[in-house]
Order: sequence, then structure tokens, then C-alpha cells
Amino acid sequence: MAGQKRDYYEVLGVSKDCTLSEIKQSYRKLARKYHPDVNNGSAEHEERFKEISEAYAILSNEEKRRQYDTCGFNSSLFDGINFDSVFSEFGFGDIFNMFFGGGFGGSFSSSRGSSRRPSRGSDVYSDITIDFKEAAFGVKKDIKYTADVNCRHCGGTGAENEADIIKCTVCGGLGQVRTSRNTFLGSLITTSACENCSGKGTVIAKPCKNCEGRGYIRQEKNISVDIPSGVSSGMQLRVQQKGNSKGSASISGDLLIRINVKPHPGLERDGDNVVSVFDISFAQAALGTRLDIETLDGQEEVNVKPGTQPGTKITLRGKGITPLSGSRRGDHIISLNVKIPADLTAEEIKLLKKYAEGREELTGDGASGIFSSIKNAFRK
Ligand SMILES: [Zn+2]
Ligand SMILES: [Zn+2]
Repeated sequence: MAGQKRDYYEVLGVSKDCTLSEIKQSYRKLARKYHPDVNNGSAEHEERFKEISEAYAILSNEEKRRQYDTCGFNSSLFDGINFDSVFSEFGFGDIFNMFFGGGFGGSFSSSRGSSRRPSRGSDVYSDITIDFKEAAFGVKKDIKYTADVNCRHCGGTGAENEADIIKCTVCGGLGQVRTSRNTFLGSLITTSACENCSGKGTVIAKPCKNCEGRGYIRQEKNISVDIPSGVSSGMQLRVQQKGNSKGSASISGDLLIRINVKPHPGLERDGDNVVSVFDISFAQAALGTRLDIETLDGQEEVNVKPGTQPGTKITLRGKGITPLSGSRRGDHIISLNVKIPADLTAEEIKLLKKYAEGREELTGDGASGIFSSIKNAFRK
């Protein structure tokens, strides 16, 4: 699934209740193994290094770890994390700049040491509204959005013909220029990106007519996205590299889908639980009854015991929401509200009075009657 991530604890091979020093120890061990310097730019190892580092960044931060434990993965976890300082104690500061400089969660250059880092297109935001039940179980949704995509006419190069892409004469196709300065320390050579070709090494003699040389055009896009169970309003789903392109020499930005969950009449969410309030009458509470309750799984018959008190809660185990991380469903909790009738008929009043008399309960006029007789007694 797009945007799916492995569990951070699993990534670091630690248990959910491990200590910070265990996290550090495990990260140090794994980082030594997958560090790009050790593996000479193996893409797979770099991916692993990035994964363990991301997991470490979150789990080593007390607040972010708590957030992750309760809500699972969410791109807002990265808000406010300074990766430079997180990893400086391991001496990884500059590697992190290189990997994640363009924004966390995005792609990064896989060739360490290469001077050319592909530029990255911007992220595209899209909103989607889903039903309460869809959020509870997860759903596959088609999403329509507009993004810059590689121009078909030029394949994203920006040139009218392939022959129109010519080697930059200023840098000789290297994309870099070296300048030599004489200083008191001797001759100092500095390398910088070629200004003529913006470091690409090539220039375009005749720009593509379709995209006017940009390499990309704006287009409607369609994508099918698996929205996991347990999402809630305000969460964002990141689909990597489905955002804007800046042409064939670039990496596309990401598509960020903001989720809005429609409320469902009668059902509310409390963490992984579903809560509903049900009115029963005084007689139903006293004598017991059977109720037809709407749950996520459809109508459910629920037994109310005789002598049920107002505020009594009935729990339907495993009828709640499947959480984002984990597969055990929450519960459905029914809160019973006992309604006292305010519209009794004369016949009903008679019956209730008879009932009260039998239990020697003072009601209505009888209650005020005793007060007035006490008052009268004092007056005498
Ligand atoms: Zn150049
Ligand atoms: Zn074009």
C-alpha cells in the first residue's frame, strides 16, 4: 500500500516497553551495519539506514514516542524535529542533511558523493471525506487531483527533440566548474555548480513546444488509495512521489491526503471504542427489555437486565474500531439513559400511584401533604 510504513519498534528490533538506552543501543548497532559509508551506496542499505534513522528520531524523543504509541504513524510526527541535533551525537549530522534536506519523508539521492542531486517537485494536497464506518474498517478510494506531470511530448526533458539537448559548453557536461585561487596557503581549488546549465551538464537548444521547455504540464490525475482502518479527521496520508514533477531529471513531490471523517448519527468514537447512548423507559429499566442497537457490524440485539440503573453501560466486545497499528478491535459501549415520562395519562397516573402506595412511597400531592401538615403542626 502507498505510504505504508513498518512499525518503528519492529524496525529497530526492540520491544514496545523498551528503555531509551535500549533504543540507542539498537540504533547504534544497526546504523553501523547499514551506514552508507560502510556499504558504498547500496540503495537497499540506504533505504534501511533511512528507515532505522527515522524510527530512531521518533522513538528517542519522549513526546514523539508517546504520540506514536497512541496514534500510530502520522506525518505530523516529524514536525519540529531537528534531525541535525538528533543525530549529531552519532556523527551523522551531514548525512541527514543530505538525505532529508528536501523535507522528511521524501525521496533522497541514492548516490552518495555524487554532485548532482535531482531536484524535487512540490507536494500536492488533496482532501477526502469518508464515512464513519469507512474510517473504522479502512477503505479503498479513488482520488482525483491536479498535479504537474512529465510532458509526454518531450518525455520531461523540455527539449523539442533529443538532438536539442546539448552538452553544456561552459562546464563540458560535468555540471560543475572548478575555480582556482591563489591564497597564502597555496592554490585553493573550489568546485561549484555550473551556472550556465544549473548543474545539469546539458542545455536545451530548442525548447519543447508542448511544455515550453519546462518538462512538465498540469494534468488531472487519478489514484486509488488504501485508507487504513482507524484513521480520524485531521490525519494526513502521504503517498510518495505522486505530487508535482519538475521534469524527467527530478523526483516528484508527494501527494498528501487530508482525511475528514463524517460523523455518524448515534455513533461516536472514543479512541478505539464506539460509544452510543440509548434511551430506555422507566418500565423497561425496571422490567428488562431487548434492544436493537446499530453497531459497525449492523443491527445487534442487546439484552437489558431487569433493574437496570440510569447510566448503566453495556459493552459489546470487539465491535469497535480496528486501530491504525494493531488488529485487535475496540469495543462498542452502550450507555443507557433512563427516561422518566413527563406526559402521563390519567389512567397511567392512577396505576403509578397504586404502585407507589404499595411501596409506601410518598408521591405528588401526598408528599406536599405531609409538608403542609408539618407546617400546620408548627402553627398550632
Ligand atoms: Zn554547465
Ligand atoms: Zn515538453
